[in-house]
Amino acid sequence: MSFFEQILEAVPDSTFAMIEAFKADSNGKKVNLSPGIYRDDNAKTWVLPSVKKAKEILQADQNLNHDISPQMGYPDLVSVARQMTFKDTLDSRTVTSMQTISGTGANHFIARFLSDTLQPKTVWLSDPTWDNHPKIWRHTNPATEQRLYPYYDYKTSTLDIEGMLSTLREKASRGDVIILQACAHNPTGLDPSRENWEAIAEVCEEKEIFPIFDSAYQGFATGDADNDAWAIRHFATRVNATMEFAVAQSFSKNFGLYGERVGALHIVTRTRDSAAKVEGVLKTISRAEITSAPGFGAKVVATIIQNPTLRGQWQDDLKTMSGRLRDMRKRLYDELTKRHTPGNWGHLLTDIGMFSIMGLSQEQVAILKDTFHVYLLPSSRLSWTGLTSWNVEYVAESIHRVVT
Ligand code: PMP
Repeated sequence: MSFFEQILEAVPDSTFAMIEAFKADSNGKKVNLSPGIYRDDNAKTWVLPSVKKAKEILQADQNLNHDISPQMGYPDLVSVARQMTFKDTLDSRTVTSMQTISGTGANHFIARFLSDTLQPKTVWLSDPTWDNHPKIWRHTNPATEQRLYPYYDYKTSTLDIEGMLSTLREKASRGDVIILQACAHNPTGLDPSRENWEAIAEVCEEKEIFPIFDSAYQGFATGDADNDAWAIRHFATRVNATMEFAVAQSFSKNFGLYGERVGALHIVTRTRDSAAKVEGVLKTISRAEITSAPGFGAKVVATIIQNPTLRGQWQDDLKTMSGRLRDMRKRLYDELTKRHTPGNWGHLLTDIGMFSIMGLSQEQVAILKDTFHVYLLPSSRLSWTGLTSWNVEYVAESIHRVVT
């Protein structure tokens, strides 16, 4: 008898299960609106022109080798990651930064680090949130209770900022952790305004909550990486008061380097003394888990950011990607309103980033998939990257037929 026969069957991850189901679907009209991976107007993976050029530079470099990076990661990547995140808002000696295995790894590392240090009683997650946040926290900190703070008002498709603030004010305790998404919130496409962010920072200070910014879409919200870091940099200006926080950064989307797994974790502390201790703990975890992060993708990102011409090209690439998603929002909105499709569609124009919640029931999402071969996540999250100028009418017609 196998040692493993007693294992309960695992529930498949819904996003990956959807990708498999899509691959197996032989219908020529199928449209995949589930994964958060940028596709061009031909529904093809897009290698950013800035990334292509950086790879040429790296491949021509006779000194390029495959040495292992130091424990905190490839130093040039770590410093450009920090600069992209904070610019000059902080004394860099109070920020501890390390390279991670993409955004997932950064989220995992900070959860692991807090489990060894702060040991939070509660972690607050937005309702709804990226479906991996609860999984990562359950995996790393089973003793930490997970609670949801109001975020998305499903009836009006707007941000429930009052609900969020009052819940935190009334129910959060000192030393709790809150996960905030820095921009282009997944799955809702709804971000707090600058005024809202100020109010959120105030509550975090007042209640002494430790915020983690999950920054997976910097540059995807407005097409400008600096604009999209506003919330993080605002929190950074408050560090002298009672604020300490962390940023889990991904380069998957904004550099199109999904498979290279490039990311960084930054932990901002009030004192330099704490920063040194934080670094010690991170090195211990890193040694046991990964020893050090992979080199190639890190070198691509660093090459782009350190070269003014490539950096300019990358800024254009961000505009190309975010601009195409905005065009698709307008196209689908026009197609739905032209058909007088029942539903609340105005938010499609104002939502931000890769996703929107379409307000469809699970049954409607299932009909879309089974009858029309249009794939959304069960929450009716639509990823704009799957829409193209040639499938948008078909998608609108399918949604129309499902809701009427
Ligand atoms: N955070 C959020 C909110 C995300 O949507 C994603 C990607 N789906 C990630 C983190 C991490 O992605 P990756 O590990 O590919 O960088």
